[in-house]
Amino acid sequence: MPALLGLCGSTKDSMHDVLIIGAGPAGLTAALWCDELGLDTLVLEQNEMVGGQLHSIYNPIENYPGIRAANGNDFLDRFSEQPGKADFDLWTSVEIESVDLKAKRVALRSGEELQSISIIIATGVRRRRLGIPGEKEFVGHGIIESPSRDREAFAGRDVCVIGGGDAAAENALLLADVCPTVTLVHRSKKLKARPTFVGQMQGQHCITVFPESVVTRILGHDRVEAVEILRKDALKPFQMAVQGVAIRVGVEPNTEIFSRELQLDSQGYAVVSSRHETNVTNVFAVGDVSNPLAPTIIGAAGAGATVAKVIASRLNERK
Ligand SMILES: Cc1cc2nc3c(=O)[nH]c(=O)nc-3n(C[C@H](O)[C@H](O)[C@H](O)COP(=O)(O)OP(=O)(O)OC[C@H]3O[C@@H](n4cnc5c(N)ncnc54)[C@H](O)[C@@H]3O)c2cc1C
Repeated sequence: MPALLGLCGSTKDSMHDVLIIGAGPAGLTAALWCDELGLDTLVLEQNEMVGGQLHSIYNPIENYPGIRAANGNDFLDRFSEQPGKADFDLWTSVEIESVDLKAKRVALRSGEELQSISIIIATGVRRRRLGIPGEKEFVGHGIIESPSRDREAFAGRDVCVIGGGDAAAENALLLADVCPTVTLVHRSKKLKARPTFVGQMQGQHCITVFPESVVTRILGHDRVEAVEILRKDALKPFQMAVQGVAIRVGVEPNTEIFSRELQLDSQGYAVVSSRHETNVTNVFAVGDVSNPLAPTIIGAAGAGATVAKVIASRLNERK
């Protein structure tokens, strides 16, 4: 259980040095450093628990120096040990009503108005949805959230993976160990996944790839029974019987609540300077929310640390 679960702050109406929105690796590291540098810091997290995407990692994490973890929750236990002992306020299950970045004011749905000198946006990304019929309806009834976690549940079943990137290929490979057939459906001519994954997939006879194709519906009664696939040159879609569907069509940044003021790129990611500052002075964005190219835990943590130091030196200059 993460060390930070349930930690909650108190000071509701005071002026803070820093408001951090989001308590994944980026937000937690920023908070740890802000505390170390003597800044009055409040972290706002929408979920009940801190950790962000770490809760969705079921594979071992072996690429963060100094930590080897069996999965994301194991990593989080170790990662949050230090912030858990630090002296910053953390409010979880928070719903933000509106944000005025220029004025550095955040209004919560519960009625509180928060004010600070600087804001760190660390809201990360979420899985992109396809928006097709069946996608929502069959969550928990054949939609595969995590092949590592759900492998036993889908063993012996025919499954479909939607997407052509690393995540889709990795999912197809994991499922191929336990499923008689895995059909990977993707839009482009060529898979975007890294060559090692593509090579491994070619060596798996149970994996069939449908390029230049889209899944238009997920069908079934109480649970997934089939997908409807439309191939590029075909006039009509066809149905294929499957009992599980994994949707891995990328991620999108959590920037909607800031979009009125924040400069965003064409995919909705926050645009930042080398100091991680956005187009609004003293508003920073760190971690995946501003890093479409190379999202990693260490990158998110590094950006969180950097920004805390930038803010501390600015505040010192003001004094
Ligand atoms: C399956 C999987 C495997 C991965 N494996 C690895 C790996 O092996 N190594 C590696 O380095 N990286 C890995 N990653 C990537 C890594 O998890 C991310 O790069 C990292 O979590 C980014 O941290 P973050 O703090 O920027 O964002 P996130 O982890 O996305 O955290 C953002 C936080 O902000 C909160 N939030 C969002 N909107 C609001 C709001 N409006 N108000 C309040 N809070 C909000 C969210 O609830 C969340 O807690 C993996 C990711 C996945 C999904």
